[in-house]
Amino acid sequence: MKPASQAKLAKRIHSDAQRFAALKDELTALGYFCKGTLLKRMMKCGKKGCVCQRDPAKRHGPYFECTFKRDNKTINVRLPAQAAPLYRNAIQQYHRLRRLLDRLEQHSRSALAHLAEFKSADRN
Ligand SMILES: [Zn+2]
Repeated sequence: MKPASQAKLAKRIHSDAQRFAALKDELTALGYFCKGTLLKRMMKCGKKGCVCQRDPAKRHGPYFECTFKRDNKTINVRLPAQAAPLYRNAIQQYHRLRRLLDRLEQHSRSALAHLAEFKSADRN
């Protein structure tokens, strides 16, 4: 493959930097995030004779939990029902963050390759 001209490379390097900056802007727009899964549970209580004991449709709840792993341990955080949307959104933000990081890394790799090509062509 014929190496790209220095002028072409300089253009690419400039557009790499612009795309990288745009992705970083997306990072700053990110809201609070958390890793995990939101669980919605219906529970049986301990009361003898309570209808929840025999009818699964009459269990109590819903109760919400955010569950995630830390140091190979599963951690469950009980949430008030009103907080469920907050956590649902934070979990979405976390997935967004992961996708953004992947894209930032891809762009970085391609930008680094262009910079490396530019530098090596410089010596010729
Ligand atoms: Zn009950």
